[in-house]
Amino acid sequence: MALGDGPGTCPDLAALREHIGDCQRCPLSVSRTTLVYGSGDPSSRLMFIGEAPGKNEDLTGEPFVGAAGKVLDELLASIGIERSQVYITNLVKCRPPGNRDPEPLEIETCSPFLSRQIELIDPVVIATLGRFSTHYVLQTDAPITVLHGRLFRVGGRRVVPIFHPAAALYDGSKRAVLEDDFRRLRAVIDRVESGADLGTATADSAPGTGTTVDLSSAAPGEGGAATGAVNGLPGTPDPEAPTLF
Ligand code: SF4
Repeated sequence: MALGDGPGTCPDLAALREHIGDCQRCPLSVSRTTLVYGSGDPSSRLMFIGEAPGKNEDLTGEPFVGAAGKVLDELLASIGIERSQVYITNLVKCRPPGNRDPEPLEIETCSPFLSRQIELIDPVVIATLGRFSTHYVLQTDAPITVLHGRLFRVGGRRVVPIFHPAAALYDGSKRAVLEDDFRRLRAVIDRVESGADLGTATADSAPGTGTTVDLSSAAPGEGGAATGAVNGLPGTPDPEAPTLF
């Protein structure tokens, strides 16, 4: 890479991490302890995108550790997935002071790194955790309360917005909502794996307007019919369906 090349020229995740370096590109560099890049299986077909590192993440350099990470692990286990099988990162890579919301400038500065991570990992399904990553990926400012649990398509990928796992820590009633949304995510995964919603995951990961299908009328685990309806695809298994897990 030539000096000044952007993240889009990085050929792999290691090169991208090297490109980010000891980043001083936005004000969050001043207060962070450790930049949190992302972790998990870099070839996973399922990617989770949170908001920003919290206190424990800032100290360890790992995404989703501590109480919210424990909730995420439990939710993953509830749908038969281990953390090691997925890739997890955040919209911004450094902790906002006091866990405040990330500022627009910080998101604008840091998000090209996430865009390149998406391109390199090339997931079939993206689960956005919370308002900020959902708004960025879908390029909308609609409330997460409206978006969660629904299936969107962006650049050939399936995107499922979900509340941030930390919501369950502050509002006990959100736990059941999270569990329900994870069941819907599992239904999307099953639909893809069965070949009934094969689609095409392309390198075009630029955020854009997604088409939507409301899975809320489908019972957990039965979202496939609604998904197939929106894709215009017959509900027959495709022999070349990818195995996500
Ligand atoms: S949040 Fe992103 S842009 Fe800002 S300093 Fe950290 S890595 Fe760099």
